[in-house]
Amino acid sequence: MRILVGTLAAALAFGLVNPAFAAAQPQVQARPCSDEPRELPIHEFTDYRELQVELGRLQRVSNGRVKVETAGLSTRGRTIHRVTVGTGPKVMIVSSEIHGNEKTGTDALLRILDFLGTSESAHAKRLRAAITFVAVPKLNPDGAELDRRGNDLSWAEVQQTFPQLAGRPPAWNYISGQQQGDDYRTRPGFDVNRDFHPELDYVPQAADVPGSSDRPGWFITPEARALRKVYLDLKAERGKVPDVYVDLHHQGACVRQEGSNKFLDVAVDYPPLPDRFFEDGQKYAKYRDVYTKDESRQLAISAYNGMTEGGYIGARYPHAADRDLPGQARCSFALNGTGTVLFEVRGQTQTLGQQHRERFTRAVVAGLNRMIADVSTGAVDRIDPEKFDTIPGTAGAEAADLSLVD
Ligand SMILES: [Zn+2]
Repeated sequence: MRILVGTLAAALAFGLVNPAFAAAQPQVQARPCSDEPRELPIHEFTDYRELQVELGRLQRVSNGRVKVETAGLSTRGRTIHRVTVGTGPKVMIVSSEIHGNEKTGTDALLRILDFLGTSESAHAKRLRAAITFVAVPKLNPDGAELDRRGNDLSWAEVQQTFPQLAGRPPAWNYISGQQQGDDYRTRPGFDVNRDFHPELDYVPQAADVPGSSDRPGWFITPEARALRKVYLDLKAERGKVPDVYVDLHHQGACVRQEGSNKFLDVAVDYPPLPDRFFEDGQKYAKYRDVYTKDESRQLAISAYNGMTEGGYIGARYPHAADRDLPGQARCSFALNGTGTVLFEVRGQTQTLGQQHRERFTRAVVAGLNRMIADVSTGAVDRIDPEKFDTIPGTAGAEAADLSLVD
């Protein structure tokens, strides 16, 4: 839970601060955008209990077309769901809320599942025959319930699960202080989206921690292991890796589309893995023939086109040539041959709360729907990947810490 304005709100309620200062509060709330953490309502988003109710309903009303299974359990025992609809040869995995303060993706996934699972339209029937759509909504349910980025897992608990890590300092992505207005001191956790490894059978080794952002993760979090299981089960069922993986996130609150200077809805990105590391003798050379840079850019263009056609403001997410994050799910899966796309909706819950929730959710749905359509027809394969660089960039992202978004 957030600690900054919440404490002040309590002080205000009990008359502990002077009225002159209190009178300034509405102005703080009314600011159009700020990356300063605040305590903001989030009740319009789907919480964990509501997600389970809705998945149960979809399973019932879809006549079994929507299949809900358990992918794993979170650290605190919440079910992580694998939700499948469609029987087609092209396999798409989409996950949401790997960061628990980035919530529109879960609502967008429920809308996609509802359409694909219950529509009797010719379009829906064709999609179900062409695509197997696998949603992993609210991948980090403990973090989502705490409305914070990290999961709810201590280093001591990790060491109990993996005794070979005894005596080692915590992994570099361990959060045990204050971050984004959340207090992790008594309830630490990990950034789950740094816990993946391109070698999907990797087992944690003492020499590999604490590691660093340009090194792979370790699958030390149950949430990362749950998504790995979804990926590997589909690979085993199909005899090939899933075709597409989409990771739904949120970013800074004040980002604009370069050129138009309009506030952004969603930015898209392909994996941050520097080209030079795929050259002979470099660390990703062995993945050169399977890495999906082009496929990922084609998918990202498709998503951008869908958002633009829907009237939403899209952009390229900032992607410096030297950005190197192999521990992200999208990078590890791309190094295995799956095309991957990052969605970055503007603002996280500590900055925008549920402001613009409906618009942002529709923008994500528009991007996903276009990708689903373009994958189903094969149109995505005819997109020129080099056109990715013609998508507008972003402006105003400087205030947000890029290490605390995707
Ligand atoms: Zn994120």
